[in-house]
Amino acid sequence: MYVVAVTGGIGSGKTTIANQFAALGIDVVDADVIARDVVEPGAPALAAIATYFGPDVIAPDGQLDRRSLRERVFSDTNAKAWLNALLHPLIRQEMLRQCAAARSPYCLLVVPLLVENKLAGLANRVLVIDVDEATQIERTCRRDGVSAEQARAIIAAQASRSERLAAADDVIDNHNGSQMAIKTRILALHETYLAFASQQPRQV
Ligand code: ADP
Repeated sequence: MYVVAVTGGIGSGKTTIANQFAALGIDVVDADVIARDVVEPGAPALAAIATYFGPDVIAPDGQLDRRSLRERVFSDTNAKAWLNALLHPLIRQEMLRQCAAARSPYCLLVVPLLVENKLAGLANRVLVIDVDEATQIERTCRRDGVSAEQARAIIAAQASRSERLAAADDVIDNHNGSQMAIKTRILALHETYLAFASQQPRQV
C-alpha cells in the first residue's frame, strides 16, 4: 500500500483536508483514533496501565482517566518512558495493519505527532498542512473553546513550523479564505499520489 502521511500542528486543518481526500474515495487511517482504541476497556494495554499506575488512572466507567494519567507522567520521566514503550509499538503496529487493509489506490495516514515521534519512515510520502501560528491559535480557540494562552502552550510543546516543513515532501498552505486554491491543490496532489501508487511494484 502506498501511504501518504498527513501531519501539521494543532488547528492547521489536518482533519478538514483528510476529509476532502476521503470524499475522493481515499481511505484515511487516523493515529489519534488508534491511540484511543488501544486503551479501550478490555484492551490488554489498559490492564497493563492499571497494574503499573494503580486504580486511580481508571475512571468509574472503566475508561482510562486521561487527565489522571497525564498528571502521573508529567513529572515522572520513568513512568512516561514506560508508557511510551508500551503504547508506541501497539499504535505503530495498528497503523501499519490498517494501512495494509486499505482498499483505495493509496491511503492517507493522519499522524499529528509525526515529526515529534519520528514516524516519517512509516510513509512513502509526507504531506504537511501548513498555516501560521496566529491562524492555528485562532482556530484552536474557536474549535476547542480554549484560551489563546492554552493554545500557545500546546503549540510550543509541538514541533516547530520549520521542523515540520523540513520533513515535508508536499505542503498544503491552508490559510483562511482560499477554498478554491486549496481544493485545486488537493486535486493535483491526489493525481500525483495516484500516479506514484500505480508505479509501485505490486506485491504478490
Ligand atoms: P486539525 O485536525 O489540524 O487540528 P481541523 O481540521 O480540525 O485541524 O481544523 C481546525 C479548525 O479550523 C476547524 O474548526 C476547521 O473547521 C477550521 N478550518 C480548517 N481549514 C480551514 C480553512 N482553510 N479556512 C477556515 N477554517 C478552516
